[in-house]
Amino acid sequence: MKLAVIEGDGIGREVIPEAVKVLDAFGLDIEKVPLELGYARWEKVGTAMSNKDLETIKGCDAVLFGAVTTVPEPNYKSLLLTIRKELDLYANIRPIKPLPGVVGITGKSDFDLIIVRENTEGLYSGIEGIGPEISWTKRIVTRRGSERIAEYACKLAKQRKNKLTIVHKSNVLKSDHLFLDVCRRTASDHGVEYGDMLVDSMAYSLMIHPEKYDVVVTTNLFGDILSDMCAALVRSLGLVPSANIGEKYAFFEPVHGSAPDIAGKGIANPFAAILCIKMLLEWMGEPHYLIIDEAIADVLQKKIVTPDLKGTARTIDVGNAVAEYVIKNI
Ligand code: ATP
Repeated sequence: MKLAVIEGDGIGREVIPEAVKVLDAFGLDIEKVPLELGYARWEKVGTAMSNKDLETIKGCDAVLFGAVTTVPEPNYKSLLLTIRKELDLYANIRPIKPLPGVVGITGKSDFDLIIVRENTEGLYSGIEGIGPEISWTKRIVTRRGSERIAEYACKLAKQRKNKLTIVHKSNVLKSDHLFLDVCRRTASDHGVEYGDMLVDSMAYSLMIHPEKYDVVVTTNLFGDILSDMCAALVRSLGLVPSANIGEKYAFFEPVHGSAPDIAGKGIANPFAAILCIKMLLEWMGEPHYLIIDEAIADVLQKKIVTPDLKGTARTIDVGNAVAEYVIKNI
């Protein structure tokens, strides 16, 4: 197994080394391939990522990614979008589950849901026209794209509560009829219990009754917005991991960005990055991946937490404590 490790910029450089420390605690045979990509690299050599870097990434099985600061170039093509497209990472997965004892802004803690977002088409098609009077973006929904994300979501639902919610806006967007039809038929073929919601009602309902949902499947932009919104349910972006999965490759990244306001201070919360390791281990089929949940519960109980969770620990203290727990309990 070969893992590309891209710390990127800002707090990516602080949280990823802690995540790698936790991964190393499992003592697995993983070859790590470090790559310097992002804003800092662009400042040095004028490019955030080269074709050679992309080839190196394609030579790996999976990627662990921190965060990159957007490069201020008018024609800058998002590095993340490029990697997602090149590796055909069609499923974006975000588990939304509170950490033990950590309550989000709504005060609720009785939920455990996963957002499955189609990651390659929809309004992120890249087919756009920009003009002084009119600008447009083409929203693409294909049968194949809808089928594979629906399949992914149904397989996940079957491992959980066998319950799927399809989120769309088909009352306004005709392109969503295809997505909705395909998701309904796939769920029915798999024997998965399903319902559907308009995205606006879903946004409201997720804030009031997140416990009603288990696996939620939706198109690209809706998934992007809903999943960031759901980070507030578990308190903050600093606690939510994500995975981008394709047929061949997988890419793991914390949901938060490079957080320039706290970068370099050593106080970033590494939980989201460490939870990415849990997702990576699960994807690899490593049976002990749930130890990471136990380890995080243990350090939370000991109050070894960073200032965003009202603690005084530093990023490195949290990483050390989680890694020590894994080493002792594996
Ligand atoms: P970018 O431009 O890279 O997206 P950003 O600052 O706009 O950066 P985030 O990095 O997601 O967006 O940060 C949003 C807020 O959440 C910031 O105030 C940041 O300090 C805080 N934050 C994000 N991640 C963490 C973390 N891991 N630990 C503590 N605070 C965090």
